[in-house]
Amino acid sequence: MNYAGRVGAAQAALAETECDALIVSSLVNVRYLTGYAGSNGMVVIEPGGATFITDFRYVTAAEPIRDFMDVKMAEREAVRFAAENLAELAPDAARVGVEASNMTLAAHRILSEHTSAELVPTTGVVERLREVKDSDELDAVRRSAALIAPVYEELAAEGLEGRRELDVAWRVRELFHEQGAAGLSFDTIVASHERGAMPHADPSEAMIGSGTLVTIDLGCILDSYCSDCTRTFATGDPPEELLEIYEICLRAQEAAVDAVRPGAGGQDVDGVARDIIADAGYGDNFGHGLGHGVGLDVHEGPRLGTRSDATLEPGMVVTVEPGIYLPGQGGVRIEDLVIVTEDGCERLTPYPKHLTRV
Ligand code: ZN
Ligand code: ZN
Repeated sequence: MNYAGRVGAAQAALAETECDALIVSSLVNVRYLTGYAGSNGMVVIEPGGATFITDFRYVTAAEPIRDFMDVKMAEREAVRFAAENLAELAPDAARVGVEASNMTLAAHRILSEHTSAELVPTTGVVERLREVKDSDELDAVRRSAALIAPVYEELAAEGLEGRRELDVAWRVRELFHEQGAAGLSFDTIVASHERGAMPHADPSEAMIGSGTLVTIDLGCILDSYCSDCTRTFATGDPPEELLEIYEICLRAQEAAVDAVRPGAGGQDVDGVARDIIADAGYGDNFGHGLGHGVGLDVHEGPRLGTRSDATLEPGMVVTVEPGIYLPGQGGVRIEDLVIVTEDGCERLTPYPKHLTRV
């Protein structure tokens, strides 16, 4: 990973803000800038350089970071060290940016007690850099996503009917583990019968019966990068209306995937799917956004939705996941993970999307 390049990009992004320095406290952002994956790390970026702060437990982990950044060992929390040494870490900084979506009030208080610099809330400075992935990151996302199809294949071969949703979710964890994943990128969703109408249903103790759609939303982490995919299966003979919304959702999903290309707006791609679902009479039953970015976090920028102001660029990784939910009856969601390429997109989740009956 090109950490030195990322630090340079963060310095350039800092110059676009009204701050003289930026304290990066989000551990995901710290990992992006340094590769550090521990629990007590912070980066101070200023025009002349960058400093990584951690403590003795991570002295070995911090060694490779010395190649592209100053490294300081704190006796306690990194934020206390940053507060007490800010004049040295960011000389002459009158306005110091902090990450408003992440910094706790307690950390903010420690900083404000030790510095006369103005602490300026910022949002998304490093997150925006993370939206466009470099080739190493894209390879990691590809490898993470490649573990998904074998999981669905195995689940389909084993069958879903007669199993508890919780047991299927546990099996997903096992199957990812057997393939070498570091963990799940989020808790697996297995939603059958009327629970399929809840987009983020927790797997229940209920048995999956015959004649239902079963939504299985899953993903793993490999080499720090997340993957995310949803398929909806059928058992027995589901009611006609559920089969109908499946076909509508599939049509909307495929049209939206076809619309993913550089220059397309997050709102426009969302609208492609939303119009198809609304024209079929189910506009009120698709209440969430079309998709989100995926990287070190399973939910990150850019967002695809009705209020998105994102414009797609090559190297972005996004999900395309329309759903139709019928309260009391069931639901369907179909989700692919794609990379925006120079002329369209590369689909990373090849498991078939026609309705698979298991
Ligand atoms: Zn998902
Ligand atoms: Zn998703």
